[in-house]
Amino acid sequence: MTERPAPTPQPPVRAEKLTKLYGTTRALLDFDGEFAPGAVTVVEGPNGSGKSTLLALLAQTARPTSGLIHYGAALHSATALRSAVGMVAHDAMLYPDLTGLENLALYAQLYAVAAPSARIDELRARFDVGRFAERPVRTYSRGQQQRVSLCRALLHAPAILLLDEPTTGLDADSVERLVDAVAVERARGVIQILVTHDSGFAKRVADRRIVLRAGRRVEQDELATVPERRPLGAAR
Ligand code: ADP
Ligand code: MG
Repeated sequence: MTERPAPTPQPPVRAEKLTKLYGTTRALLDFDGEFAPGAVTVVEGPNGSGKSTLLALLAQTARPTSGLIHYGAALHSATALRSAVGMVAHDAMLYPDLTGLENLALYAQLYAVAAPSARIDELRARFDVGRFAERPVRTYSRGQQQRVSLCRALLHAPAILLLDEPTTGLDADSVERLVDAVAVERARGVIQILVTHDSGFAKRVADRRIVLRAGRRVEQDELATVPERRPLGAAR
């Protein structure tokens, strides 16, 4: 498999007193955090604790009420930032009446991906996206849709990868493939931030954990020494 070149050196992404209010709901409060290239951060917390809000703010699909995010000088423009971010959110962000392949081709064009067919083939192989990719997305199971969404998020070899509950709908083999994909991106020096309720998956991929409760960051646990974690970056 030919890997895309590593992203141009990227400083850590740094959030400073990041706050998002929805009316009287405090979705995220005074969040401070730093996300380094090549590090996998897992964000945990109960429903409604602000995890998706944090990802939306980092992807700039939502505007903070207050606070700042520093992405580094290379990503100062909105366009540069959009092309540096890959995201899988709750919504698949796929056109239901187009096939999976048509969706991927369309996104490849939007992101001006070089050699798009080769890249699409490479990602299909990574996530075992077989013949179903020739059918409209509206006919997919949740897991099939998720696998195509993962391909979509990675198409343009983003420097920042944000995955919101990425194991949703995935069978055991697909979770293994996702663990491997996270390892590949980690070795490329990508900044990865993953929201998950799947503690087994989290343990295997996380370098560090962030826990949110009611919009506040409550603890942080470095996991680099967890013994059962398979070494990331190991060949499949
Ligand atoms: P999580 O992903 O941890 O489950 P969210 O970040 O989605 O939590 O939500 C945090 C809080 O903000 C919740 O109380 C949620 O209801 C609220 N919230 C999120 N998005 C919106 C929105 N667009 N409008 C109003 N309230 C929202
Ligand atoms: Mg959420």
